[in-house]
Amino acid sequence: MNNIESLIPQRKHLIFDILQGLDFDMADWSDSLKSDSPPSSNPKYCFNWSFIREDNQLIVLNLWHEELVESNGIIFQEHKFKEFAAITSEKKRRNRALAIDQACRTAYQQNIPVRVVICKGDIANGKVHKRELDNEVWAITGYDLVSGATIIQRGVNPTNKILIDQFDLDRSNSTPIQYERNGVTYVRSSFVRHKVLMRANGNCEFCGKQGFTTNNGDNYLETHHITPLAENGPDSIKNVIALCSEDHRKAHFEKNTLLTRENLYSIVKQNIEKQLVKVVSQQLLCET
Ligand SMILES: [Zn+2]
Ligand SMILES: [Zn+2]
Repeated sequence: MNNIESLIPQRKHLIFDILQGLDFDMADWSDSLKSDSPPSSNPKYCFNWSFIREDNQLIVLNLWHEELVESNGIIFQEHKFKEFAAITSEKKRRNRALAIDQACRTAYQQNIPVRVVICKGDIANGKVHKRELDNEVWAITGYDLVSGATIIQRGVNPTNKILIDQFDLDRSNSTPIQYERNGVTYVRSSFVRHKVLMRANGNCEFCGKQGFTTNNGDNYLETHHITPLAENGPDSIKNVIALCSEDHRKAHFEKNTLLTRENLYSIVKQNIEKQLVKVVSQQLLCET
């Protein structure tokens, strides 16, 4: 089973035990303790939302089950921890939000795998009733350097993102900032590109043909700004479409092309509407 309901945690495991099981160094949980309480309840650590292992090879995130979304068979969460940190007045929550934002950015930029502890309980008061480690590997598949918007996706190896575009190809230089030949710098949000790739789910949004498979086994499509950034087109999911390589070239160069801005905008609009229906119906299923 691979749906959201199968991921409801059944037991309440301690974060301490989960991290120890993942080879984290737990010494400071005991060493920094100022009371007689057990190390597993050390307030310096036990309320944190994110943990980075000392060797920088694994990141653990606590996520609420209620915030999982399923679309096109992909299970993920979307967050803007940076924005949350900016608006919350509570210092401790702000620090936790800044830490998890930092962890997500690091995981994205350095291709570090993520393990997720799925929690269920009273979200408003931050009280966990059930807590279990999910046995799949997750990855940060999209991160926007400006807003901090992030996609945390289940069942993805970070070096094999499954859905990739032309900007993901060169992983050794996988910076979300692309330099144009004319010297103008445009910031393309990897969050936006990956939201669009998830919407297309491997098929060209114009002709419907499946993108080709790369050496790594990823599905390759190209993301295209309908109104170019150079013409002040917004870097948003409404202005970006996923196309096969051939259609992408046609959109730029073909004489009397069918890939007009008007046509592409109408396809994107339809696909966004279709996607919203799916996500909402999944959430309704969850509630029953
Ligand atoms: Zn196509
Ligand atoms: Zn283009």
